[in-house]
Amino acid sequence: MKSTSHSFKFQAKNALKNVNLQNALARSKSHFIDHRRSAIDALPEFNALRHRARDIKAHTLEHLDVYLELFEKQVLASGGQVHWAVTAKDACDAVLEICKTAKAHSVVKGKSMVCEEIALNAALEQADIEVVETDLGEYIIQLAQEPPSHIIAPAVHKTREEVADLFRHHHGEKKHLGEIPDLVNEARAVLRSKFLAADVGITGANMLVAETGSTVMVTNEGNGDLTNTLPRVHIVVASIEKVVPTLEDCTTLLRLLARSATGQEMTSYTTLSTGPRRAKDVDGPEEFHVVLVDNGRSELLAGDFSEMLQCIRCGACLNHCPVYGAIGGHAYGWVYPGPMGSVLTSLFLGLKEAGDLPHASTLCGHCEEVCPMSIPLPKLLHQLRTQKPQTKWLIGLWAFFAKRPRLYHRFSSLVGKVGYIPFIGSWTKTRHMPIAEKETFMTTWNKK
Ligand code: SF4
Repeated sequence: MKSTSHSFKFQAKNALKNVNLQNALARSKSHFIDHRRSAIDALPEFNALRHRARDIKAHTLEHLDVYLELFEKQVLASGGQVHWAVTAKDACDAVLEICKTAKAHSVVKGKSMVCEEIALNAALEQADIEVVETDLGEYIIQLAQEPPSHIIAPAVHKTREEVADLFRHHHGEKKHLGEIPDLVNEARAVLRSKFLAADVGITGANMLVAETGSTVMVTNEGNGDLTNTLPRVHIVVASIEKVVPTLEDCTTLLRLLARSATGQEMTSYTTLSTGPRRAKDVDGPEEFHVVLVDNGRSELLAGDFSEMLQCIRCGACLNHCPVYGAIGGHAYGWVYPGPMGSVLTSLFLGLKEAGDLPHASTLCGHCEEVCPMSIPLPKLLHQLRTQKPQTKWLIGLWAFFAKRPRLYHRFSSLVGKVGYIPFIGSWTKTRHMPIAEKETFMTTWNKK
């Protein structure tokens, strides 16, 4: 997916004026927040689980190479194949090669953020392979030719009426589908034939279990199970930080994930895939492939932002962020929106492309408070802000004056009168430059 993160301010302004988007955001926000609250209130050990989950992730990331190699060994032992992809292009090439070998013409897909990140759909379409998204939200935005606006609810910005119009346009039906169950049934009927015709099914993974070589996927629609069971070939595309050591660890994270994401105790479907179909299995794919995507994560692991790799993509930080709640996901311009997206996009694409995103936060701290992995998002956003060359330059300038009180006083008095500082006019337009006192607090104290 091409990034438009550099146009964040422009996109945010447009989002604020979009009435349909504002209505959709207001509706979804209270839904997610209320459900999460009730689910967490009903689980007294929630905080203990958070600590355990953080320890599991920290331990795994410290020994990532060991657990990834164990995962690979177990996938091979169960009859599957593992493909290592350093870049997004390597990952797309690996999937294309598997599709080519399988002589695939059509692919069904489950929801996967990493597939969005590597722009897999565009690569498949360029190779003349039909790709059909099967998660209802993803299907809607595929028809609308839009990117997801939320990591767990990709079409959250669409109203029911907009979806009805889309279906009428694309399904060639004359009838108007006004109610949500009618829309769901229609999508189900269209997608059923796509599942049956597909040569390859591609899914993401919420986790990879090293001790068994299993991939774990949670959904609420069952589309993931049809995607990985019906086609001849199943490809799992997963980023390397998804690995956890054991099934026990996996269940700890699952207990946090559903509650934090949708406020459910468990999602409707939790599917573990371990290798291709065995002789006595009644269904399943003939081939099972896992594409392990790095795409900048190894570099992240070694740097100051490695905590971001603990993210389990629950979306709670988006749902509680006042900025996301006002502008929605598209304004962020790439795959990952909200507080987690502002950090990840800046890290993956660089501050030249996404320099405004670390500022898309009030630093109120709500994101960290609700994050099941306690990722210090405000601290990371703040750290990114100070890495922007302009910010570094301004802080340097401020430090120069701060170390020279008389000069600082003269400068701030002048600015106070003029009400404007060159180069940061947009900041001073809405704020007053505080005028420094003539003497320090201690001098005044001693005098009095
Ligand atoms: S940063 Fe935390 S709250 Fe946000 S998506 Fe990741 S795990 Fe969830």
